[in-house]
Amino acid sequence: MNLTLKDRALGAYLGLACGDALGATVEFMTPERIRAEYGVHRDIIGGGWLTLRPGQITDDTEMSIALAQAMIDSGGWDLTRVADAFADWLRSSPVDIGNTCRRGIRRYIKTGALAGPVNEAEAGNGACMRNLPVAIATLGDARAFERQTLEQCHLTHHHPLSDAGTLCLGRMLQALFAGDGIAPCRQQAEDLIDAHPEFQFDPYPGRAGGYIVDTLQTVFHYFFHTDSFEACVTETVNRGEDADTTGALAGMLAGAHYGVDAIPPRWLAQLEPAISRTLKRQTDALLKLNQSGRTVD
Ligand code: MG
Ligand code: MG
Repeated sequence: MNLTLKDRALGAYLGLACGDALGATVEFMTPERIRAEYGVHRDIIGGGWLTLRPGQITDDTEMSIALAQAMIDSGGWDLTRVADAFADWLRSSPVDIGNTCRRGIRRYIKTGALAGPVNEAEAGNGACMRNLPVAIATLGDARAFERQTLEQCHLTHHHPLSDAGTLCLGRMLQALFAGDGIAPCRQQAEDLIDAHPEFQFDPYPGRAGGYIVDTLQTVFHYFFHTDSFEACVTETVNRGEDADTTGALAGMLAGAHYGVDAIPPRWLAQLEPAISRTLKRQTDALLKLNQSGRTVD
């Protein structure tokens, strides 16, 4: 497997969108209901509780696009630009938005606050799901990665488990981008569990909700127990619950690991062309930011 950084970064970004679009159909369903209705849910068909068009993506991909564009437009990192991009996105009447994200963005619009205090209620997966652009643009610069990740997280989610899970997922992505394979990913997961034992996913507890712990247990379980992009994302979303977000995160990891050419063509063909074009253009621009070293300020 001789994959380039571009194959892996684009695989992660398109993988995110495919996982989001596939999973959204079965968001909030139980695995039993999915089985009764679809057998195995394996095609991007839209519908679901949001009555999506086939291939339509949701907030997981949209917030990533907003974050990426703010980074590209500011030529590196400017947290106010990121907050403004999220505010513009909120005003665009998105098809879906999590409560914690809405609250944080509204706070910024009202008060200009770029972070709130630590909040017990902010341990959802909404900051983690959108952090891929930071992982791409800061590859090779661990300090910039950590600072930018925490800053963008705290715009809406200020909770130690959200912080730790988002950093862990991003470090796994960066290990995969660097071509280092699965072993360092397992190490990252183990380090996370050492610090926060609630993330233990073996044996798999079976919850796939929006709580960052449930989300990452599901994503890690299926990423480490499958051997293809399609199997990883399909098995993940068939757990239901927050399936668009678990699908998005599984798609990022699997896309970074197996590369863009491992994504089923029938899934890529379903994505809306304008979205695919945006993700490709942004991937190139984020990689350029990385090379220019201007992600550090
Ligand atoms: Mg969503
Ligand atoms: Mg979701």
